[in-house]
Amino acid sequence: MQKDQLFTRRRMLLSGAAALGAAGTAGAVLAEVGEETPRTAAAPAAGPQARQALKPSSFRLQPLTGYGPPRAAPRKLKVREEPILQISGRGRRMVLTFDDGPHPDYTPHILDTLARYDVRAMFFVCGECVADNRELLARMADAGHVVGNHTWTHPLLTTLRRKEIRSEMERTSDVIQDAYGERPQWFRAPYGAWNRATFQLGAEMGMEPLAWTVDTTDWMEPGTRTIIDQVENGAAPGVVVLSHDAGGDRSQTVRAIREWLPYLLDSGYHLTVPRRRV
Ligand code: ZN
Repeated sequence: MQKDQLFTRRRMLLSGAAALGAAGTAGAVLAEVGEETPRTAAAPAAGPQARQALKPSSFRLQPLTGYGPPRAAPRKLKVREEPILQISGRGRRMVLTFDDGPHPDYTPHILDTLARYDVRAMFFVCGECVADNRELLARMADAGHVVGNHTWTHPLLTTLRRKEIRSEMERTSDVIQDAYGERPQWFRAPYGAWNRATFQLGAEMGMEPLAWTVDTTDWMEPGTRTIIDQVENGAAPGVVVLSHDAGGDRSQTVRAIREWLPYLLDSGYHLTVPRRRV
């Protein structure tokens, strides 16, 4: 098993160990993904309360030295204006993503194929599907896959009020935490329909927005051969591949991956999952 593939599992087990994200192969993707984003809106530490206890004049006269260690300024929440489309291509990396599941008829077959080739992938799950298939998220956790937030009911978020968007995302992060073991650090808007509110809310919930580079078009059920061609022709370092393990008849997706996955590996691609510091 590759070092970075072991990493996810270890991260889950040691969740909260801040230094882990910087270890090993994580650096390459972090550079692409950007700077560390706080998991929640940073609140000032003891500063304001402590200051209120002092008269303004006495506070100003207080020397910095001898007043306790200097405090770091609260980190500003980083809100993106567009989603991440690809990862670092160093080492011929590619990322496989599967949306809309989990589904009891299709997801297990995809997990079987990934396991057969010892490959880690990302699953952007819908909360309402997780609620009925928690054991599949436990299986993803055990296998080292990364689970992302794809809302609860898969709505067109751009038509919803902010409160509704928040509910869609928050409930999903909650059920993922329950079934998978940790809160998601990635989210993907249904239909790729993002707006400012989704970026802002995602950032507040500690999630990075990930889109994709290559669409397998499996959602159109175009035939297994077409799906295979889409992946094999679109393969390139740094590419993020979009597939679906639910939302329709995904038997073509299940058959296609059995062909294109070994093809990508034979072509020297390193199929991996992106990392973030936690
Ligand atoms: Zn979707």
